[in-house]
Amino acid sequence: MAAGIRVDPALVERAVLELAMEGAHGETGVWRTVYSPEWVAATDRYTAWCEEAGLRVHRDAVGNVWGRLDGTDGGKAIVSGSHLDSQRPGGRYDGALGAIAALVAIRTLKERFGPPRRPLEAVALCEEEGSRFPSANFWGSRAITGAIAPDDPETTHGYDGESIAEAMRAVGLEPERIPEAERDDLDAFVELHIEQGPILEQSRLPVGIVNAITGIRHYVVELRGTANHAGAFPMDLRRDPMAGAAEIISGVVATAHRMGRPAVTTVGRVVVEPNGPAIVPEAVTFTVDARHPDPAARDALYAKHEALMREVAARRDLEISWHHTFDQVPLTCDPELVRLLEEAAANQGVPSLTMASGAVHDTQRMAARCRVAMLFVRSKDGRSHTPAEFSSLDDCVAGIEVLAAALHALAY
Ligand SMILES: [Zn+2]
Repeated sequence: MAAGIRVDPALVERAVLELAMEGAHGETGVWRTVYSPEWVAATDRYTAWCEEAGLRVHRDAVGNVWGRLDGTDGGKAIVSGSHLDSQRPGGRYDGALGAIAALVAIRTLKERFGPPRRPLEAVALCEEEGSRFPSANFWGSRAITGAIAPDDPETTHGYDGESIAEAMRAVGLEPERIPEAERDDLDAFVELHIEQGPILEQSRLPVGIVNAITGIRHYVVELRGTANHAGAFPMDLRRDPMAGAAEIISGVVATAHRMGRPAVTTVGRVVVEPNGPAIVPEAVTFTVDARHPDPAARDALYAKHEALMREVAARRDLEISWHHTFDQVPLTCDPELVRLLEEAAANQGVPSLTMASGAVHDTQRMAARCRVAMLFVRSKDGRSHTPAEFSSLDDCVAGIEVLAAALHALAY
């Protein structure tokens, strides 16, 4: 494996700042939703950079931009990239850094080593956040993996009511042609992304190597009791769903805490009926977001949560029901790619930590078509989805150098 692959920090810095100009929001924010004029400008800029780097550029049927460096031996492509759309507003690094990293890494390899044996491709994916069309997450990577149903474009609506099909047509894309974006000639996908959490910072390490992406289940739990007067009804005669909810909420949070990292459980939303200060509630509905990247540990976490919910409801004589609004199985990254990234980091002299991702990423989708792994770059204060997100240039460069070394090992 090649050591000492260096990328030009000035090139990285310029790319981050220039891309952030498309949809610039305040001092350091970015507001760039898919198929908006700002997004079009960002993809145009990315296209121009790919051409400048001597890559063959292709915009696919959903608007993903691919920059390809052909391989002398042909074969399936080695791909890196991430998404260009942002939260409303988001920061400069989420997604954008991964798209830039792929391009800079491939450009650097081409300049230093010439044409690769295997084809190398950088990709700027078109919609990961769902920030304009809330149910369109992973639109770009879903198109690549053939996971967009024929009626999805017309039935996927944005916050302002328009369909994603209309938004596509407005920027010159034809929804009928989405199946053309599908790829069956990919060998590996390595996505670089900011960590979006505090683990690397806490460990004082610039780069993380992702060996698994968390499984997530969203429960909506409804507890029903009997609404009664807050003064006239003695405690021992109440069927109080708030008391049950409080017990369950603190219980599931404590369960994840006791299980230890990387288990997490969050209750982020509670709806109380009738929600009056002097009324024992009739019903309390709340969400439980539970995540774990290990399939067996995930099952154990969910089972503990469900056992507690049943036990509390029975003891307090409450009716309980729940359903899942989201259920994503954990993804184990390709062990060989993970090992290669660890080796690349060691060879480049970049200290790293192998860790799970607690957030979902396009990589999860791409895993349907090829082997995958990810690289994380340290996030300042663990922050993301805000203009305050920041990763230092040194950390970004370190991550891109590890990526370049890994792509070299895979393609040359
Ligand atoms: Zn992202």
